[in-house]
Amino acid sequence: MTTPRFYVSAADLEDDRVTLSGGDHHHLCRVLRARVGDEVWLLDGRGLKATARIERLGRESSTLKVTDRKWEEEERPRLHLFQSLLKGSKMDLVVEVAAELGAASITPFTCRYSQATTPALERRVERWRAVAAQSSRVAGRRYLPEVGDPVDWKELLRSLSRFGVTLFADERGGERVAHVLRECEAEELALIVGPEGGFEDAEREELCSLGARSVSLGPHVLRAEFAGMALIAAARCACGLM
Ligand code: SAH
Repeated sequence: MTTPRFYVSAADLEDDRVTLSGGDHHHLCRVLRARVGDEVWLLDGRGLKATARIERLGRESSTLKVTDRKWEEEERPRLHLFQSLLKGSKMDLVVEVAAELGAASITPFTCRYSQATTPALERRVERWRAVAAQSSRVAGRRYLPEVGDPVDWKELLRSLSRFGVTLFADERGGERVAHVLRECEAEELALIVGPEGGFEDAEREELCSLGARSVSLGPHVLRAEFAGMALIAAARCACGLM
C-alpha cells in the first residue's frame, strides 16, 4: 500500500512526536484504516519529509513518532502556469492536474476573451488552494504549489520580468517547446495558456514584445483546460524532469 502522506507545519515537525487531528486524523483512521506501527510521511510543503510511525490512534487524534527526516531541494527550473480564467469546474481540473504535474505556481488571469464574469471569485480561489493541496498530498509533493490571486492582463505582463523564459501556447502555431528550452538554464519559467476563445492578435504582440516565445502544442486545437497539462509535460520533458 502507498505510504499515507500529510502536510503539517514546519514548527510541528521540529518535535519528535506529531499529533494529527481533524480531517487528517479521520482520513488516517477511517479512510485508510491505518494501524498502530504503520508508516506515514509527514511533509512540511517546503522540502522536508519526515518518516513517522503511528504510536497511538485515539478517537479524536493520533500520535506519530518521527523516525527520520530528509530535506530535498526543489527541482529546477520551477514551472509557473498562468491560465486564463475558465468557466465552471474547468479551472479546478487545471489546478488539480498542474499541482500533480509539479507546477510551482498556478495563477489565473483575465484577457480579452476570458470568461471574466466570475461570481464568488474569492471562494473559487479558496477552493483551488484546497484542490492544489489535496492533489499535492496524493502526489507526495515535497513542495506545495502556490495558487495566486487572479491577475488582469496588465499585471500578468508586468509580472513576466521575473522569469528567465516565458512561453505562451498559441494554437495558431509557434516554435517547438523542446527547441525553445534546449539548454535552458533559467531557474523560473512562465507558461501561459489562453482562454477558450484564444488570444487576440494585440495580446500575442504584447507578449512577443516582452520576449515571450510562442510555442505550438501540435497541429490540433486543444481545449484550454488541457493545453496547460500538455505544456507543462512538454516543458518538463524538455528540461529533463520527466
Ligand atoms: N478558440 C480557439 C482555440 C483556443 S484554445 C479556436 O477555436 O481556434 C485555448 C488555448 O489553448 C489557446 O489560447 C492556447 O493557449 C492553447 N492551445 C490550444 N491548442 C493549442 C495548440 N495546438 N498549440 C498551442 N496552444 C494551444
